[in-house]
Amino acid sequence: MSGKVILVILDALGFEAAVENCGWLEGLVEAGQARRWRMRSCLPSLSAPIYETLHTGTPPALHGIRSNDHVPLSKGPHVFGVARAAGKRTAAVAHYFFSELYNRSPWEALRDAEVDDPDLPIQHGRFYSERGYQKFNLHLPSEHDLCVRATLAIRRHAPDYLLLHSFSIDAVGHGYGADSREYRKQVWMVDNALAEFLHLWTGAGYRVLVTADHGMTADGRHGGNSEAERLVAFYDVGHPEGGVAGETVSQLAVAPTILKLMGLQAPPEMTEPALG
Ligand SMILES: [Zn+2]
Repeated sequence: MSGKVILVILDALGFEAAVENCGWLEGLVEAGQARRWRMRSCLPSLSAPIYETLHTGTPPALHGIRSNDHVPLSKGPHVFGVARAAGKRTAAVAHYFFSELYNRSPWEALRDAEVDDPDLPIQHGRFYSERGYQKFNLHLPSEHDLCVRATLAIRRHAPDYLLLHSFSIDAVGHGYGADSREYRKQVWMVDNALAEFLHLWTGAGYRVLVTADHGMTADGRHGGNSEAERLVAFYDVGHPEGGVAGETVSQLAVAPTILKLMGLQAPPEMTEPALG
């Protein structure tokens, strides 16, 4: 297998919220066009540490990205680097932490926000920040805009690996908590945007993986060890089996799964087997 892969990270989308509100994704599962697993996040259930876990297949205690307060360059090996070493093309539409982890740290917006550089691990990057946003002016990059940018990246650059990362569910979750009308509505809004664009990506030959870094508590937090913070969904759109997988799997499986779908060898640091 040597396919092209898109990883969609829906920041802070908890497992139950995904299953209850993502009508489009769940419809693909019911129709046998996608397979869904329940996945347990690593600890701490925080964004930057888990972004790195999703791309290295190692837990924060090993990869060393410990919090969101300081985000240095990844020591790897990571999915972007392995793909680049194999001559694959990479792209991302994502929060700037991904630029810090894989391209350059610390972030300098005017240098890093838009990059098209074949020598960088993320060759074609469009990054955003949440600077200055609080509950009264929530940071919500439009899901439609993010999906447009991802689709344009596909049409212009045909990346072998594309990361699409959405921040809005996290922002609304911190503002209103996971047991709120606002959080559930935002989860559905994201699913609705995927309904509009996902078929364009699968039509272009991509296998599309959709998951979250971590969940969200009813009182608007994450970072800890509760089920609400750790359990997320993992959808594989295009999986030949489809349906619901019974077991709860480890988040360490995501990086090796991406590489396997791309036809690339996982480095020995990625010890978890790829999802079947
Ligand atoms: Zn958060």
